[in-house]
Amino acid sequence: MASSAALKCLVLVDEAPDLELWYAVPDDLIHRELRGCRVSVPLRRRKVQGTVISVAPVEGQEGFALRPIAHLLHPKPLVPPALLELAEWMSDYYACRLEVVVRGMIPEMIRTGSSGFKTQKAVRLRKEVAAEELEALRKKAPRQAAILEGLSPGVEELLATLSSRHASAAQAIKRLEEDGWVEILDQVQARDPSRAEQFLASQPLQLTDEQAEALRVVELDLEAEPADKKPILLKGVTGSGKTEVYLQAIARVIDQGWNVIVLVPEISLTPQTTERFKRRFALIQDRVAILHSHLSEGERHDEWRKILDGKARITIGARSAIFAPMEKVGLIVVDEEHENTYKQENPPRYQGRDVAVVRGRIEGATVLLGSATPSLESWHNTQNGKYKLVELTRRADDQRMPVTRIIDMRSEGRVRRAGQKEVATIISEPLRIAIDQRIARGEQTILFLNRRGYSPSVVCQDCGHRVECPHCSVTLTYHEGDSRLVCHLCGFQRVPLKKCPECKSGTIFLAGYGTERVEQILRKLFPRGRIARIDTDTMKRKTQLEDTLNDFKAQKYDLLIGTQMIAKGLHFPNVTLVGVLNADLGLHIPDFRAGERTFQLLTQVAGRAGRGHLLGEVLVQTFTPHNPSIQYARHHDFDGFASQEMDARRILNFPPFVHVILITARSEHERRAQFCAETLHKRLVSDLPPEFLISDPMPSPLVRMANQFRFQVLMRAKNPRRLVAHIRKHLDALTFPEDVIVTVDIDAYNLS
Ligand code: ADP
Ligand code: ZN
Ligand code: ZN
Repeated sequence: MASSAALKCLVLVDEAPDLELWYAVPDDLIHRELRGCRVSVPLRRRKVQGTVISVAPVEGQEGFALRPIAHLLHPKPLVPPALLELAEWMSDYYACRLEVVVRGMIPEMIRTGSSGFKTQKAVRLRKEVAAEELEALRKKAPRQAAILEGLSPGVEELLATLSSRHASAAQAIKRLEEDGWVEILDQVQARDPSRAEQFLASQPLQLTDEQAEALRVVELDLEAEPADKKPILLKGVTGSGKTEVYLQAIARVIDQGWNVIVLVPEISLTPQTTERFKRRFALIQDRVAILHSHLSEGERHDEWRKILDGKARITIGARSAIFAPMEKVGLIVVDEEHENTYKQENPPRYQGRDVAVVRGRIEGATVLLGSATPSLESWHNTQNGKYKLVELTRRADDQRMPVTRIIDMRSEGRVRRAGQKEVATIISEPLRIAIDQRIARGEQTILFLNRRGYSPSVVCQDCGHRVECPHCSVTLTYHEGDSRLVCHLCGFQRVPLKKCPECKSGTIFLAGYGTERVEQILRKLFPRGRIARIDTDTMKRKTQLEDTLNDFKAQKYDLLIGTQMIAKGLHFPNVTLVGVLNADLGLHIPDFRAGERTFQLLTQVAGRAGRGHLLGEVLVQTFTPHNPSIQYARHHDFDGFASQEMDARRILNFPPFVHVILITARSEHERRAQFCAETLHKRLVSDLPPEFLISDPMPSPLVRMANQFRFQVLMRAKNPRRLVAHIRKHLDALTFPEDVIVTVDIDAYNLS
């Protein structure tokens, strides 16, 4: 009865996110934690689903007007209170509607309750049954009483089991549910994606002095009062044993009864990584939940349920695992904290590492960020005292860092080998010799090129025309394997051209090279070499990546060529040579982070070499050998790189000294997108406080993508909240044509 309810709750209804809908809390739910619960509520004449955002006392007579919640969809909050608080912070900071944030926290299939996974109905007591109540029921409905008597508090009984014990059980249970005695749940048959594998336990290693010191800093923070905690940045060269520090810190936290969330970049969520965790925590293997995008829907559901039901002690996952509904979180680890994959590029546009820091603060948990090449944002935070810094300067097994040689392709590329002049511009002579030696010695080589396909552009020799995607402002990439021109932005494909579409000349040639072409050249250069290639074209099936990496580890290949998929976290003791084919690829992108990204990538790739007892060598082919990013990476000199890059950022007013906010207007109609960007810009500057910087409205570097024209305004400020408020004020006052979409990206990473 709504009228007698003393509480009301605000429900975010999935299909009407803009409405502020209050419902009465029915008596039987009054003592429950409702915030974050999924509920079914009446909306006009229908039942709809939503999430409870807040609960408040009913005032005066308003109770009479409120309709009650129909029922709870799941007995526990899918968004526990700490996460709701996090959602509110995100909604505020990232200028994103709370509904979008909350929605993003719950996996689609859990939210919609759609099946497709194995569930069985189970029955559970909702309240204690007093002896006299049971007695009363026994007289009225003996069958119901018999079932009720057989249930113990907190224990779920399968409906099927009850049916086998009692005649007409289903009907009786239905009545018991209606009268509020029991609830009927979907009990999921867990499918652990790695259940088939049995991992042998691994023992903690004897820590080096540096590792022990790092662990001590983490332990001090674990013991500190919440107000005294600070995120810790663990900066350790590749192979310095950061993971061992995580593992031992996690073990402490688990022993003390707390739970742990570990974020890793999607790309390094390889079986290698997850196996390391499962082995160390072999005793509680089934209490480690793994979340990543290669899971089937059913697997993801099971892993998530394991967390929700409080069975998981450790959650390991990519970005969105920071929303795991885990309770008692004592430690959050963010591995490779500098990785761009922590940034979500769809609404809600958040940076997972930063959200991890905020969640840690809300929960009073210790936050440990690790990287060999920290983001300048986190680095800055160690300099201004917001984060603590601990360093591992040496490799754990006392291996020397690999030796890096820079190959100047301006001269090397011109060296001609008989009949192979184009080959030398792709694999220089020193690199060819080095690979040859490795094959002869039975050692392995990794070659890195961050571009897939055969050739990134098709050019007319007569008029210089480059074949572009009809929907995007990028050239089409030639893929020889399926003889197609492909757009890497929108996926458009067409058959290769015989003639130039502009001047009809037949002298079309393939400019540049991608991994597919390199593989072909390698096969010619090293006919005896066993070669594997890893990129999104060759790794289409779920198990392919795993299989290829395992085969490479088992030394069934001499050479591995790949894109950024192989740049991170892999550990192959027999790899003594790493070649970077075109170190300049990322340098000429119009983005203030281009140098930082190149430095990170080169350092990470180089870190794949010499991880066993053999010394590693890295050869870097470049046309700009004196570029600071390349030189600092060569000397494994993060501090040097950071110091000069920070100076530049400070002078030019770029992050980490300010926050950037990118506003983009896009539309199929070029003029309308442009007009909207210009109008908005005019408003924004009309009362612009001097503390904010604003660019002119301009075409995005990729002006056209998937048929949408894009124009942008870049804003910068020391205080992002005030800037967001300024932007919001003007956005809310404007109405844009329906076919124009305006997005606001706070702390933007992708400026193209
Ligand atoms: P990172 O995460 O910093 O790249 P890893 O944790 O992968 O480094 O460690 C690199 C290698 O060193 C691994 O093979 C690991 O088993 C080994 N290792 C780590 N710590 C120690 C240690 N204290 N003693 C011996 N070997 C170690
Ligand atoms: Zn032409
Ligand atoms: Zn395209």
